[in-house]
Amino acid sequence: MQALQYVTVGAEPEVREIPTPEPGPGQVLLQVTAAGVCHSDDFVMSMPAEAFGFTLPLTLGHEGAGTVAAVGEGVRGLELGTSVVVYGPWGCGNCWFCAQGMENYCARAAELGIFPPGLGAPGAIAEYLIVDSPRHLVPIGGLDPVATVPLTDAGLTPYHAIKRSLGKLRPGSWAVVIGSGGLGHVAIQLLRHLSSARVIALDVSDDKLQFAKSVGAHEAVLSDAQAADNVRKITGAAGASLVLDFVGYQPTVDTAMAVAGVDSDVTIVGLGDGKSAARVGFGISPYEAAVTSPYWGTRAELIELIDLAHEGVLDIAVERFTLDEGPEAYRRLAAGTLRGRAVIVP
Ligand code: NAD
Ligand code: ZN
Ligand code: ZN
Repeated sequence: MQALQYVTVGAEPEVREIPTPEPGPGQVLLQVTAAGVCHSDDFVMSMPAEAFGFTLPLTLGHEGAGTVAAVGEGVRGLELGTSVVVYGPWGCGNCWFCAQGMENYCARAAELGIFPPGLGAPGAIAEYLIVDSPRHLVPIGGLDPVATVPLTDAGLTPYHAIKRSLGKLRPGSWAVVIGSGGLGHVAIQLLRHLSSARVIALDVSDDKLQFAKSVGAHEAVLSDAQAADNVRKITGAAGASLVLDFVGYQPTVDTAMAVAGVDSDVTIVGLGDGKSAARVGFGISPYEAAVTSPYWGTRAELIELIDLAHEGVLDIAVERFTLDEGPEAYRRLAAGTLRGRAVIVP
């Protein structure tokens, strides 16, 4: 089969012919119908050889959708041909976190050598994908896999980040979304559907600001050195009740802290360069502002999000690419010229 693989540290990913895998005991083989391209892959591929933690070649893609093509020994209750999406942050299934559906925070994954597809295990940007357990599949019925696959990360990550702060998003409050790309454009829609907060979106170009408004942002502000002042002009002294930073470089983290209000949540989702930090302390940050950096979301949350998609309230912007065009999708992601999510359709 064909797969998009990261082969050489520092080089572009390559389309390569590799053996089609067979499902082992307990595993499921999916024929991939769609696979999303996430900015975290760009972060991983920008790591120097000494910091790169996975074995190469690595088939990319941690957002996957497919139809069940075969099941391994012992797998029950899953019909061939079922259309599914993949819950990506695989855990052991047995620890306290996994028992809560929080496999994204599995206490034993590292020790057991369990990695998400595309981030250690072979990923979804291929004709076929091995999923380690039927537990990691969510049926999507008649939903379009191409428009639905971004929900497994570009949807699930903001859904988790927003859900934990819903109590703070009262009528009249402001939510700020920094970075209106793959994750950010879903975050804006989720904020609009799940809360009555008003939404201010930030990005670096007029095109992106228009895009943010088209998916539901009430206000859009250029993300420059004056961004915090311009956001404060909109929110007034109260500031924002929730700030979601989908960029995570020091300038955006500083903007996030500068627009946060008393008793707010500042949620840093973007990886940035992996070095930025928020300063918290008396007289430095707003009273009772809480700063967190969450990772992905829970299994239950992905099921909820697919249920929300069935309501038809989400409009996921997708740019389609073939497997052969995979390297081009990553070039466009790095250049910041995508509108929404790049999805590869093998
Ligand atoms: P993306 O490239 O689709 O979107 C990023 C957006 O940010 C683009 O619209 C870009 O124009 C905008 N942007 C860039 N610099 C900016 C700035 N200084 N101010 C405002 N906007 C700016 O990326 P994505 O796939 O949506 O991922 C977003 C971030 O979230 C990445 O850092 C990614 O690694 C990270 N991520 C984290 C998790 C997690 O679990 N914490 C999960 C998925 C992705
Ligand atoms: Zn991702
Ligand atoms: Zn676990």
